[in-house]
Amino acid sequence: MTRIETGSCFCGSISAEMHGDPFWICSDHDDDCRKAIGSPLTVWVGYRPTQFRLLTGAPKKFSRTRGVLRTFCADCGTSIAYFDQGLPEELYLTIGFFDHPERFAPQAHAYWDMKLPWVEFRDDLPRVGRYSRRRDPAVGNPADR
Ligand SMILES: [Zn+2]
Repeated sequence: MTRIETGSCFCGSISAEMHGDPFWICSDHDDDCRKAIGSPLTVWVGYRPTQFRLLTGAPKKFSRTRGVLRTFCADCGTSIAYFDQGLPEELYLTIGFFDHPERFAPQAHAYWDMKLPWVEFRDDLPRVGRYSRRRDPAVGNPADR
């Protein structure tokens, strides 16, 4: 049976289903996401775009970096997703969007170089200085656009 996880924003107007297992789960310490999410770090849960099914509502889209699209609920502000055209087969959802976030343990830290000094971890996960995912070289990394 296919695993189905559900997600929703704080006010409940936006909901979605994610079919199958995520392929990558990562803690992210970079400053762009910190601003966008409003948290010292976030955990991104990575799916293939075809695994995502929007059930209700219409997430608002925002882009500050060329090729990067972030979505959120325009009513309650919950951050929902991150898409980068340099990673066309990857869609990342915030851990806070999930109805059962306890099921998604991170596999690595990304942008460890920007981790806030008072955030400490005792895990043995890989600590990647910058991006944990390789972008399409034709598009490049968001920080270089
Ligand atoms: Zn909402």
